[in-house]
Amino acid sequence: MRIAVLSDVHANLEALDAVLASADEAGVQATYVLGDLVGYNADPVPVLERLTTRPSCTLIAGNHDLAATGRFDTTWFNRTASVAIEWTSAQLTPAARTLLEGLEPSAEGEAGLLVHGSAVDPAAEYVTNEARARASFDAVRFDCCFFGHTHMPTLFWHDGDAVHGRVLQDGEPVVLEPGWRAMLNPGSVGQPRDGDPRASLLVYDTQARIARVHRVAYDIERTQAKIIAADLPPVLAHRLADGR
Ligand code: ZN
Repeated sequence: MRIAVLSDVHANLEALDAVLASADEAGVQATYVLGDLVGYNADPVPVLERLTTRPSCTLIAGNHDLAATGRFDTTWFNRTASVAIEWTSAQLTPAARTLLEGLEPSAEGEAGLLVHGSAVDPAAEYVTNEARARASFDAVRFDCCFFGHTHMPTLFWHDGDAVHGRVLQDGEPVVLEPGWRAMLNPGSVGQPRDGDPRASLLVYDTQARIARVHRVAYDIERTQAKIIAADLPPVLAHRLADGR
């Protein structure tokens, strides 16, 4: 089975449509979306509609989704993120709100464990290094864990002894060796932060155990224009062009 793994869509409809088209070209049979469906960009409701009408699509919540529905303390959000969450919350239709309220920050998928942050703290922990990854490997029994939240395409693996980590490059096939336990992060669809402004997704082949990140260009100017028109903080538009 081939699975499209998406994360941190953050209400960016143009980026989402671009990665879904890329996923369909790759012939995926299922889609995992690892939370932060909304927040930052200007299309929360159309993004939710797109994802809920997609067949075989598993959704979990991220900290922004929880915050938009009053289930996450935003004290530690920066000002820009807080403004975006307030704006997002005001946009939600009753159906969109009900959908978000029904999501949890982790789920069991056919191909592994789905979390937004980490296996230790599914809503909010950033797995940015081997030590953080090790804590997740030690806390929960999984062979494969799909996570997001850092907006960086990353692989951590446990070879039975040590935990290793590496960045995933566009188009590079990465084989998960037999016996490895793995944590895979597809990067961000809607607000990449690794210096590459193109939307990011990961395609995972469960039989061959091959993971491959795809970077997809989309109409950034259109997304930026919507952010400005919505009166969201302009920095949210500017950063998309830099991939930061
Ligand atoms: Zn995010």
